[in-house]
Amino acid sequence: MAELEGLEFGKSDFVLLDEVTMDQFMENLKLRFQKGRIYTYIGEVVVSMNPYRQMDIFGKETIEAYRGRELYENPPHLYAVSDAAYKAMKRRAKDTCIVISGESGAGKTEASKYIMQYIAAITNPGQRVEVESVKNVLLKSNCVLEAFGNAKTNRNDNSSRFGKYMDINFNFNGDPTGGHINNYLLEKSRVVHQQQGERNFHSFYQLLRGGSEEMLQSLHLQGDPALYVFTREGAGAATSYNDRSNHKAVMSALDVIGFSNQEITSIYQILASILLLGNVQFEVDGESVQVVEDGVVNQIAELTATDPDCVVKSLLYRTVATGGGEVIEKGHTEQDACFGREAFAKALYERLFGWIVSRINSVIEVKNYNPVLHGKNTVIGVLDIYGFEIFDNNSFEQFCINYCNEKLQQLFIELILQQEQSEYQREGITWQHIDYFNNQIIVDLVEQPHKGIISILDEACLTVGKVTDTVCLESMNTKLAQHPHYTSRKVRISNLLNLCSILPTLCPPSVCCRYSVEGFLDKNKDLLFQDFKRLMYNSANPVLKEMWPDGQLGITEVTKRPLTAASLFKNSIVALVDKLACKEPYYVRCIKPNEVKSPVLFDDARCQHQVAYLGLLENVMVRRAGFAYRQLYSRFLQRYKMTCEYTWPNHLMASDRDAVEAIIRQHGFQDDVAFGHTKLFVRTPRSLFTLEQERAAL
Ligand code: ATP
Ligand code: MG
Repeated sequence: MAELEGLEFGKSDFVLLDEVTMDQFMENLKLRFQKGRIYTYIGEVVVSMNPYRQMDIFGKETIEAYRGRELYENPPHLYAVSDAAYKAMKRRAKDTCIVISGESGAGKTEASKYIMQYIAAITNPGQRVEVESVKNVLLKSNCVLEAFGNAKTNRNDNSSRFGKYMDINFNFNGDPTGGHINNYLLEKSRVVHQQQGERNFHSFYQLLRGGSEEMLQSLHLQGDPALYVFTREGAGAATSYNDRSNHKAVMSALDVIGFSNQEITSIYQILASILLLGNVQFEVDGESVQVVEDGVVNQIAELTATDPDCVVKSLLYRTVATGGGEVIEKGHTEQDACFGREAFAKALYERLFGWIVSRINSVIEVKNYNPVLHGKNTVIGVLDIYGFEIFDNNSFEQFCINYCNEKLQQLFIELILQQEQSEYQREGITWQHIDYFNNQIIVDLVEQPHKGIISILDEACLTVGKVTDTVCLESMNTKLAQHPHYTSRKVRISNLLNLCSILPTLCPPSVCCRYSVEGFLDKNKDLLFQDFKRLMYNSANPVLKEMWPDGQLGITEVTKRPLTAASLFKNSIVALVDKLACKEPYYVRCIKPNEVKSPVLFDDARCQHQVAYLGLLENVMVRRAGFAYRQLYSRFLQRYKMTCEYTWPNHLMASDRDAVEAIIRQHGFQDDVAFGHTKLFVRTPRSLFTLEQERAAL
């Protein structure tokens, strides 16, 4: 068994702190980080610090040490929670999920990869070919999704610009049989605009820098990102990411997953079309707007298998139905044309990404599974999703992301408390009520029908006429004036919508987020002219056509307005939370030690900020109020019988329970435990650590 850590490494579980204060929490976190101990528990929750260096705590040997063990039998590790989730799934046929959260660069995606690596390593001991192939596709899908969904940002060279939830299905043997990926809110605005120092999605640079000459030629591209408006900004951005070798890896992953040659070609044709679209320029010619250079448009038409005249027409005109049911073509202003072109480029990318995900899903979907023959099909879900984002200037995207986190936080509290409560009841142990901040009030503020912020936003988007962001804000100010977590303020440059949230008692008042409403309406409407949809639906390329089923509708048939971006996002998050709520949850809370990717710097203020908004102190309190660990009497006895003279080598007690009581009494732990019907409940891990140390010393 791996050595347990000594006290010089700090407390391996925050539940063991002498007092639950922010100071003590931070002191322990810092000490452990400095000593290279990047994982610490809060009960069964793993707090993970990004080490910003390669650690030798991953790999085959460590995996073996954690395999099948209980949490407290080894130093804290991601592998231990992965094993706990796997054990619960296999032994008790429970669906489980691992929720990974934290801010950009905190190490969520790396953590999710270690979890996948662990699960892959401990399953399929018999090396069955079909199971190996499922595992291979699940692992390879990461490489493809990262290429298309990740980008270099100022905070992280490989930042996931989408949320990802992956279900892995298991058969009764506990071997993976398939899976399903859900993606959330891809940051598509990045396709047309990036902040200084940031890049577009990796896929574009991979293609331009890694594509063969022949490939680029067939796509009408030249291999230099500086030549394209959409990749120009990030062309010189230094990154640790190797575009050329990653291009090869992605091409091979696409092949292994099972994308056909035509599909792979189509993917790159779409990427090329987007790059070329960015270079289309408009000029005003008298009354009308024209495309400056026909050549680029012809290339786009060829790559998308559409008619060049139709491409020009969609860029310059929109078809509208008049009140009398007549259909007319209305010429764009230059501004409308630019807006339309950018919306089109963003939508092309978003649909491409969505299609890639669904195509991977079709390969990994569980086929021919008969529960009567094969037993219950169980699931482990892994959620890698953007954590709270609080910038100097927060916009619609942060609003959505933070709403999502409020919901996950709410679920976290509900599940942990509810789970505890029902187990205590089952085992006949007195339940002690815990006071906690119920952030349902904030969730409601955002999502309540008719009254919530999303409803007010949607209403403004549906109103015909000139409703501006400011008008919408005023409407919110009036309707939400009485809400305790809503404040409005007029500030010189922009209008800020202030959503205060999270634990008023435990957190400093600075942990609240202000949003600028500028751009909210446009982003929420997410308008794309029907002409583009029709153009794509009419493509002779079946892959493209498949991505645009809604282009089938004629202009007079489009009566229902599509859902707004916020409503779509809300629906997907509600569905996600429903999915998670019926699973047994395990949590990984990631913390970023500093802003400069240093392996030695612990930025106290930044870390404290994250501890506060992840609600970690509250988590410790909840954990301390109840019992951190529980174990069946028989199993407890099996493990610790050698530490007590009355139970070693054999016990003569009437029951296992009596024997366990003898062990507890001999060690003087009576005040730290409660005896349930079938299990021993231990309040703090201290007692268990002592027993573990005694056991190891024997
Ligand atoms: P985002 O929200 O932007 O996607 P993230 O939380 O997913 O961020 P990661 O991409 O997982 O962050 O991590 C950022 C970087 O930190 C990694 O590229 C890697 O350099 C480093 N890193 C994270 N975790 C580890 C680890 N366990 N060991 C070594 N380096 C790590
Ligand atoms: Mg990530």
